[in-house]
Amino acid sequence: MILMTSFAKRPHDMIAYSVARWQPAHENLTEKKYMAPKKVKFEDAEDFYKKYIDLMTTGQRWYQIQKFVDREQKLCRDVALCCWCTISQQRLKGYNTIMCHTIPLGWLLKESGLMVKLDEEREEFGIPMRV
Ligand SMILES: [Zn+2]
Repeated sequence: MILMTSFAKRPHDMIAYSVARWQPAHENLTEKKYMAPKKVKFEDAEDFYKKYIDLMTTGQRWYQIQKFVDREQKLCRDVALCCWCTISQQRLKGYNTIMCHTIPLGWLLKESGLMVKLDEEREEFGIPMRV
């Protein structure tokens, strides 16, 4: 199972990787840079998610994500993929939803065949995309 979560909320008994551009000073996680976000301009939550899906499913990134999927399918273990975003941090930026790339990334991993869970905050405050 792959858990999409934040550094702050990650369970410490799970293998964890950073899918952020950088990580908190107290963390020392292996970084999966090909799953890290990029600055994108977006109009609303739906647009945000669509742009991230485009970004993640393009070229080298998608190839590496598929390799990650194959590996995790074989290993069949629990892994947390962590970013900074929490609802309290997002509210400081003026959002009432979690605008985090780990949500569209989670959908893509799920579509690719992994069992994916969003953490409670992402479940509650992430906007489900209509596709
Ligand atoms: Zn994030």
